[in-house]
Amino acid sequence: MTHNSPRVRFAPSPTGYFHVGSARTALFNWLVARRTGGTFVLRIEDTDAERNREEWVDGILSALHWLGMDPDEGPYRQSLRIDRYHQAIDALWDAGALFACGCTHDEVTARNKAAGILTPGYDGHCRSLGLPRGEGRALRFITPDDGVTTVPDVIRGDVEFPCSAMDDFVAVKGSGAPLFVLANVVDDIDMAISHVIRGEDLLPTTPRCILLWEALARIGWTTDGTVGAAGAATPPLPVFAHLPMLVNEARKKLSKRKDPVAVESYRDKGFLPEAFVNYLGLLGWSPPNDESEIFTAAQMTEWFALDDVNHSPAFFDVAKLTHMNGEYIRALSVDAFVEVCRPWLTGDAAPWPDEAFDEGVFTAMAPVIQERVTVLGEVPAMVDFLFLDTPEFDPEAWAKAMAGDDGALGILEAAIESYAALADDWTAASLHAATLAVAESVERKLGKAQAPIRIAVTGRRVGPPLFEALEVLGPDRTLTRLRSAAKFVAAGGTPDFAPDVTPDVTPDA
Ligand code: GLU
Ligand code: ZN
Repeated sequence: MTHNSPRVRFAPSPTGYFHVGSARTALFNWLVARRTGGTFVLRIEDTDAERNREEWVDGILSALHWLGMDPDEGPYRQSLRIDRYHQAIDALWDAGALFACGCTHDEVTARNKAAGILTPGYDGHCRSLGLPRGEGRALRFITPDDGVTTVPDVIRGDVEFPCSAMDDFVAVKGSGAPLFVLANVVDDIDMAISHVIRGEDLLPTTPRCILLWEALARIGWTTDGTVGAAGAATPPLPVFAHLPMLVNEARKKLSKRKDPVAVESYRDKGFLPEAFVNYLGLLGWSPPNDESEIFTAAQMTEWFALDDVNHSPAFFDVAKLTHMNGEYIRALSVDAFVEVCRPWLTGDAAPWPDEAFDEGVFTAMAPVIQERVTVLGEVPAMVDFLFLDTPEFDPEAWAKAMAGDDGALGILEAAIESYAALADDWTAASLHAATLAVAESVERKLGKAQAPIRIAVTGRRVGPPLFEALEVLGPDRTLTRLRSAAKFVAAGGTPDFAPDVTPDVTPDA
């Protein structure tokens, strides 16, 4: 392994759904690798057995795949590298970089309080006691007493951390398990990582990483598994880049509980990965030419530079992302649109039985559907009336435009009569003309007259343009549905709503 071409890594901990912030971190790493002919390494930081779950690991892999960012190398798993961390711990111990500490949190707090020290943190109590390892003692790293540790950050410049504010931090738990920071640094060295690109939340940890890295360098820790071998050298410190935090509308850090942050949920709602990646690219970066916010991953690769990344928080704007997704959907060819809709049209995602689906019918409607959806998950409800025996009635729509409208029956009856005469000329244009005449006969605007017809036929108040929908549905089914709806309205009843959606049909309550 050489340092000539960059080696970047994405190092998620599998503790939950794949967070949009993680996806943005993965993307910026991936872009650096693609831009420079480097290597994009995936490392699963799964040493915390209590918080990690295998399904979250699968979630990371499948989300990266969905986004088109499969790793070039890995996934490495920290849980399989524990021996290596112990090797590093032993080497650091032998070199005197660590000391054993048996203090409890309460003891440290009490001592600090007695000494009038208000800042939390370890007071150095055991540093010079020479306690042996083991017996449940944690191992702390000896930090310098004065000076500063500087994090040279491509995005923020030099960030200085005074050593006086840094305590002797725990590198190994009392149980003997390495802490995150130790495993992280050993891996970055072993994997010859040249660029550490990660979220701003990790910036406070970075001075510790640097001190550990330097301590390992002093004892001749090498990437090939040897320690202190003649002539071997630890690679130089990596380039650091801490990406700006993502915030919500209230400019607060995105909350796992309150904000929609799971990448999986965007995939499931029918966002296009191309649109999603495009939007992620705008979270802290924008193309240098400032021409358009719509660009491909290939264009981003061509334009991306880490030092153009902004350090101020980036607003994760779901409305903007959704709007952008709509633009991507409308830009597809009809064939491509039909293709990306496929997962929503069969199997569990579809509200009709598979055998009821007719691709020719869907394709005929596709151009007008494509204009009207912002996410693919909206597609089934737009076309289900074509594939279900009876429409899925929206109880509220029925209550308002049928039960709650005295004119509904007249409109339905007039439509039945004039549509029946059109059977040989069943086109959107002639249906349009016939409906206009119906509207005039009841002295209503076309839009108002359409409502009962639309609900009778599609079950809903919104959907594809009515006359195209009727044309595709055909005269038989259209007339059957109109007659059935008229019968219900005349009897003051409602269609057979699914039991769990039985409406309150009190007119205009
Ligand atoms: N596993 C760490 C986390 O997910 C990230 C470590 C890193 O990128 O250095 O927060
Ligand atoms: Zn102690």
